[in-house]
Amino acid sequence: NEVLQKADIAMYAAKDGGRNCWRIYDPSLQQDAYESMVLTNSLRRALEHQEFSLQFQPEIRLSDRRIIGFEALLRWNSAEHGPVPPGKFVPLAEKSGTIAAIGEWVLREACRFSRRLHDAGCPGLHVAVNLSPRQLSANNFPEVVREILVETGIEPGQIAIEVTENILIEPMEDSIRKLTELRELGVEVALDDFGTGYSSLTYLRRLPVSILKIDKSFIDGILDDPKQAEYVGFIIDLAHALNLRVVAEGVEVNAQIDKLRELDCDAIQGFVFSRAVSEPAALRLLQDWTEVP
Ligand code: C2E
Ligand code: CA
Ligand code: CA
Repeated sequence: NEVLQKADIAMYAAKDGGRNCWRIYDPSLQQDAYESMVLTNSLRRALEHQEFSLQFQPEIRLSDRRIIGFEALLRWNSAEHGPVPPGKFVPLAEKSGTIAAIGEWVLREACRFSRRLHDAGCPGLHVAVNLSPRQLSANNFPEVVREILVETGIEPGQIAIEVTENILIEPMEDSIRKLTELRELGVEVALDDFGTGYSSLTYLRRLPVSILKIDKSFIDGILDDPKQAEYVGFIIDLAHALNLRVVAEGVEVNAQIDKLRELDCDAIQGFVFSRAVSEPAALRLLQDWTEVP
């Protein structure tokens, strides 16, 4: 029994490791599995205990250095565990299915924020929301989006949905159909983390996206490695040929901004301008910082 139990734990670790691989049982795996279980249990109560909040990271257009939108990033301040980073709890929420309710909460809060931006005299800004594959596979997802837009009184173009390639792990035709429906409604769709995963041209061709976000891991090397810069330039040209707007993620220093402008990148997001901040701080950024220093 014990051997089977431990083999089971190793199997789960292998599944977490991206499947199609193996793991040897190690007592630390049991610790990890236990931690995941405890966190998952707390996650189930986190919504009703109002432990979630959103922070907003600005996106800056390079041509005029203005803020053109914000990405909503989820924060969990657990009563039991303190602040837990999204990289840790989002996968657990996906596995346990709680992501459906959490994701809907995120979307509604992001739309409310968008509404307040509009009311504060900042029209034309978009708010981007990260979407997990599980959320898209819910039958009525486009309907839910439509309802929230009506409820919060904002235009579809004020919202961007960010998806990654693994959105297509779920039945692909179904995902494409739903995203197309949203796109036709006027919602922006961004392909996130481009440059990680397969980054296959098939995704760019088949997904109804309007924005391409180049992953930080690709941007990191553009100053030291000419080949890398050339590669990013090539991605930008390709995206423009497909009529996509390009956002560089994880920009940390000014020299990267100069390089990205040279490469004809449309917009940037990163610590060089601002981390994700609370709503009042986001509104202050809009007032004080129309230009990158
Ligand atoms: P992401 O969608 O790629 O979000 C960007 C992440 O990069 C954020 O981390 C942000 O704080 C970080 N970042 C931005 N600029 C810089 C920079 O200049 N340097 C560095 N080192 N990092 C930078 P965060 O907030 O920890 O989120 C991590 C991931 O968690 C997100 O990656 C996204 O995949 C996921 N996530 C966050 N909120 C949600 C959500 O509401 N729903 C879902 N499904 N996933 C979410
Ligand atoms: Ca994102
Ligand atoms: Ca990203």
